[in-house]
Amino acid sequence: MAKRKLTQNQSRRIKQKQHDSNTQATPSTALEDDSHLGAEQAGRVVAHYGTQVDIEYGDQQTRRCFLRANLDSVVTGDHIIWRDGDDMGVVVSCQPRSSLLSRPDSYGKLKPIAANVDQIIVTVAPRPECFTGLIDRYLVVAEANNIQAVILINKSELIDDENADFFADIHTRYSKLGYTVLSISAKQGLGIDALNAQLRNVTSILVGQSGVGKSSIIKHLMPEQDIQIGDLSDAKQKGRHTTTHSQLFHFRDGGECIDSPGIREFGLWHLDASAVTAGFIELRELAGQCKFRDCTHQ
Ligand code: GDP
Repeated sequence: MAKRKLTQNQSRRIKQKQHDSNTQATPSTALEDDSHLGAEQAGRVVAHYGTQVDIEYGDQQTRRCFLRANLDSVVTGDHIIWRDGDDMGVVVSCQPRSSLLSRPDSYGKLKPIAANVDQIIVTVAPRPECFTGLIDRYLVVAEANNIQAVILINKSELIDDENADFFADIHTRYSKLGYTVLSISAKQGLGIDALNAQLRNVTSILVGQSGVGKSSIIKHLMPEQDIQIGDLSDAKQKGRHTTTHSQLFHFRDGGECIDSPGIREFGLWHLDASAVTAGFIELRELAGQCKFRDCTHQ
């Protein structure tokens, strides 16, 4: 179809409309006229829904807030400064972070997913089959982000003659490297006290393959929360729905956990080779002494 030629009046009206819609106040920019907002207060982001967040302040009170337009990378776990408004509050700034975990989105762009995480709990189980390569991947992510890692063997009641040596070896090998290794059964409630002690007073995330029991463990520790538990056959299906928001939960005995399906199964394909080498703590010293300058220490 031939391009229609616009009259001068039509062009002027279109330009005016575009100008009006660009300058029309969106909720977050409207809040930038902040004369009606309350005083600045400290808070922490406990749930993230795109342009809005829930923040926690005072004695575990929560408030829905808009994010100031310049604060696009605020994530669950962030310590923030906010001001209260009539219907909602507004987050005005983000405090420095002790750690920030990111993962690539479906376009390959790195997206922050959780902030101020102190501890990564790498969860494995006899079923689905455990691969030490997967444990190592998560340990590398933890080391690259300067976050403590703990190895958690769930479904310990399923350890039998066939796999006992394998799990005993995991205990010995990773304990020797300085990692805490815990054994539990979320189903039978075994080893839960030691896990509770490990989680107390810090912010943790649970990571690991689908089906190892991460949701069951969180559910066991926080029975009052509405957490979905799948079964192994569900977990194996590709394309399972995994795009819900991330949320920070409080454990009853103190400490928090940031959780979302996206956080539970994040990988390390965004790390470069030197970060991967540095992530194997037993290689760090040796890599410096390697006689081949361009060796990748595979
Ligand atoms: P997630 O995908 O890692 O979150 O795993 P889920 O928590 O959804 O659990 C996957 C399956 O493992 C479910 O059928 C759970 O009931 C089961 N499960 C969880 N913990 C245990 C356990 O300690 N022992 C056994 N035998 N099964 C468990």
